[in-house]
Amino acid sequence: MAAKIFDQLKLFLSLRSLKVRLFVIILIVGIVPGILMRYSIVSNYEERAVQQRISTVQNQLLVVGNHLLNNQYLTNYKSNDLAYANSRAVIDAELEMIANLYEGRVMIIDSSLKIVRDTYRLSEGKTIISEEVIQCLGGQDTYHYDKEHGYIEMTTPIVDPAAENPDGKGSGKVVGVLLTSFSSDSIVETMEILNRNSMVWEQLTMVVIFGVAIVLSIVLTKPFSRVTDAINEVQAGYSDEPISVPDYTETIHIVDAFNQLLERMKALDDSRQDFVANVSHELKTPMTSIKVLADSLLAQEDASAELYREFMEDIVSEIDRENRIITDLLALVKMDKKAQELNIASVDINALTELILKRLRPIARRKDVELVFESMRPVTAEVDEVKMTLVMTNLVENAIKYNKEHGWVKVELDADHQYFTFKVSDSGLGIPEESLAYIYERFYRVDKSHSREIGGTGLGLAITKSAVLMHRGSITVTSTEGEGSCFTVKIPLIYIAQGKE
Ligand code: ADP
Repeated sequence: MAAKIFDQLKLFLSLRSLKVRLFVIILIVGIVPGILMRYSIVSNYEERAVQQRISTVQNQLLVVGNHLLNNQYLTNYKSNDLAYANSRAVIDAELEMIANLYEGRVMIIDSSLKIVRDTYRLSEGKTIISEEVIQCLGGQDTYHYDKEHGYIEMTTPIVDPAAENPDGKGSGKVVGVLLTSFSSDSIVETMEILNRNSMVWEQLTMVVIFGVAIVLSIVLTKPFSRVTDAINEVQAGYSDEPISVPDYTETIHIVDAFNQLLERMKALDDSRQDFVANVSHELKTPMTSIKVLADSLLAQEDASAELYREFMEDIVSEIDRENRIITDLLALVKMDKKAQELNIASVDINALTELILKRLRPIARRKDVELVFESMRPVTAEVDEVKMTLVMTNLVENAIKYNKEHGWVKVELDADHQYFTFKVSDSGLGIPEESLAYIYERFYRVDKSHSREIGGTGLGLAITKSAVLMHRGSITVTSTEGEGSCFTVKIPLIYIAQGKE
């Protein structure tokens, strides 16, 4: 149980499960844009709010700057003249109001960098050496937002349009600077509220997306579970019908491939059953004959020794036949084993053919069939000698067996740089065209009774074909009924084991 949970966990972490992958993808796609949007909205707000605040304050300061100029504040800030003192008080009040409004501090600095007025009253009369102030005296207003300490500092030039610009460029001269610093706390506060609100939304959507991701990943992968269930059902034997899960193109492909496999397995199973039925039938026939012969002998009470001999000869021939079938079946079963079982060696094919023909010559002579061998060149090939002997013997034996009286059999051996060809042609009965497709099937015989008469089991060509295919060769046949047949076997000179190409 623990191992199973561990396996599931490992599968989960390795992201091998489609369900988990879908879940993670949906989660990322659903959540990441929300987080990015929140960041961009909040930081955008901050930037815009700071800019807005600066431009509002700047506008108000420009107005104050004009008042300063009109009242010659910078030149007469020490004068005791009542008119100046009054207007100074008005301007001071204006400055005070701005400072209070924005929770900040405003300083008026004249062109000699002296602080003329400070709303905090701390630095009046002092000289200020600041890069920003000097820059501003040159005509350029500046601002600086200190995020860490939560304040904005800015400089506003006080421009006297009537005075001559020392550079001679444009009109007006900077006669003083308004240095302002004010708190950005209210901006930060609004930002925090915004952040908090959007975070609440984000968490809510996260929960929803989490749920959606779980549901979708389960729903979307359901068809695959259905495929597995359907396959398991077939495997468990509840059904052998083709399965159908038409939800996705992918499941249709998987199911199609499985159905094809199922069909092949069924065909294999059918052919196995056919084979077993055929084997039983073929093995039973000689047994039945033997029993009939033996029974009829026993039934005759005073059977002569001659009759016994005659019946016993028939019984022996049936036993031989049974024996032949069993030998061929064993050969066939051996062929069905793996190709690795081939005993490959370099074999002189000419010598092998000569040897086989020598063995078969007595049978040919008995049927008065002429056996001719034509070799185009010496051939040596990597083959399994025993299996190749079976191939050659079967083909030549068939050519003799299914021949006419005074007929001929011609065996030709040739080779190119890749293959050798072993060709057996005869002047025999030939094979009807409609039978050509079946002659390699087990127990198939064109003329059952004739074949049985001449000792055929119907397994020879099945064995031959298996042996040829094991050598990665090919076998072809051409035949005209009543004229003769020609079998051609093509085998690679060098054996290449499966999977080594
Ligand atoms: P069998 O043991 O009956 O010869 P095979 O598998 O060798 O079985 O051959 C299958 C059938 O093909 C044979 O029964 C025969 O009818 C036909 N056949 C095979 N070789 C020849 C041939 N050279 N000429 C005519 N018919 C042939």
